[in-house]
Amino acid sequence: MQSKLFLYNSLSRKKEEFVPINDPFVGMYVCGPTVYGDAHLGHARPAITFDLLFRYFKHLGYKVRYVRNITDVGHLENDADQGEDKIGKKARLEKLEPMEVVQYFSDRYHREMDKLNVLMPSIEPRASGHIIEQIELTSKIIDEGYAYVSNGSVYFDVEKYNEKYNYGKLSGRVLEDLIANTRELDGQSEKKNSFDFALWKKASPEHIMRWPSPWSDGFPGWHAECSAMGHKYLGDKFDIHGGGLDLLFPHHECEIAQNTIAVGENSINYWIHNNMITINGQKMGKSLGNFITLDDLFNGSNSVLEKAYSPMTIRFFILQAHYRSTLDFSNEALQAAEKGLARLMKGVETLNKLKPVSDGKFNPAELKQNCYDAMNDDLNSPIVIAHLFDALKTINSIEIGTESIDEANLIILKQIYSTFLIDILGLRSENAEAGNNEILKEVVDMVLNLRMTAKANKDYATSDFIRNELTKIGITVKDKKDGFEWEV
Ligand code: ZN
Repeated sequence: MQSKLFLYNSLSRKKEEFVPINDPFVGMYVCGPTVYGDAHLGHARPAITFDLLFRYFKHLGYKVRYVRNITDVGHLENDADQGEDKIGKKARLEKLEPMEVVQYFSDRYHREMDKLNVLMPSIEPRASGHIIEQIELTSKIIDEGYAYVSNGSVYFDVEKYNEKYNYGKLSGRVLEDLIANTRELDGQSEKKNSFDFALWKKASPEHIMRWPSPWSDGFPGWHAECSAMGHKYLGDKFDIHGGGLDLLFPHHECEIAQNTIAVGENSINYWIHNNMITINGQKMGKSLGNFITLDDLFNGSNSVLEKAYSPMTIRFFILQAHYRSTLDFSNEALQAAEKGLARLMKGVETLNKLKPVSDGKFNPAELKQNCYDAMNDDLNSPIVIAHLFDALKTINSIEIGTESIDEANLIILKQIYSTFLIDILGLRSENAEAGNNEILKEVVDMVLNLRMTAKANKDYATSDFIRNELTKIGITVKDKKDGFEWEV
């Protein structure tokens, strides 16, 4: 029925048929957030891109182990080997334990992802919980002769690695160019070459997060965690490693080098990267004054925003672009997405009310195949959405009687929308949520009216029982002269 799935592999730079190593199992590792601040628009895109892939794999019947880490140690401010630890700095400024910072922002990240209908991964390991594995990885690379100890820190020897393997195979960078473009080391540096990267860093006296190791009291280098945790949970060889395009170099290039020495060559089959979001054509950044958190978006509380945008509007906006295209945020684009999503959801409501006729003509088989073809062509969600939009015309024609459908085909048509729109694209009607609140309101009012009747009949036992039971589930009741008030 559905054709074969092709995914673009950043490693081969072409679309390749997806064949799992151990069918029906799929192992997928995605670099998660560094949790030292609120989740922003830049976090939403990788989360939604790999959620789309996770959902599609599950729909196709694969058993997916999806690992998405939390970086809570070792990610230094300038993304390289110098500067303060991002979480350590936040902890110092706020006078908190680093793990308080991590807990607080992880919880907030989860809440925002939940609003975006992003499913939780199967395993969400933290870097700080895998120090032993990172020390083992580092020892292995030293033993193999591809890392050296310098002043208590351990660095990966990129030049030596490149003599036998290809440093740059993922990013397309050439080491000779890197050498030509890097400044001379000042003689104070611990590294042999400026492009060598840290596997382990000796902690300075003021550095808060530190662990004992054979080389020094210190902490792991940023790239070590994903190699260590990916292979711990998914085995020596696994199917997919993903993340944002900004991680391709140096983070993923360094991971490949580490994996090659510690685990073996080609330990991961497909490298998948989502492109970045720009804001009114500019890169998003705190220093550029156009930094938008997801909380800002959902509340409209940011001067860049003309209004609040709902989580499903953001999700739809992201899915309306192919994940490998750049996506430019603007108020106009988000308002167009809001309208488009409302039109689709209205179409689903109409679809659910359609009446079949026994000699109905419309056959949705082509629509179904088109949706699968688009998904199988490297997760082309904008094309899936275009097909679903297109079919709204038919749905409207069936409603007004200029087109017709029989019962069996109506069931298939409904399944197409629930499968692609709800299950795979992960969109949900926000009207339904508002509707649930309406239902809650009516139910509580009804129960409290029963309580008024009980009180009028002097049945205080029932009246108190109702109030206490409502309190237990978090609903506070206030009696008024002429009735009641309540709140959740
Ligand atoms: Zn990573």
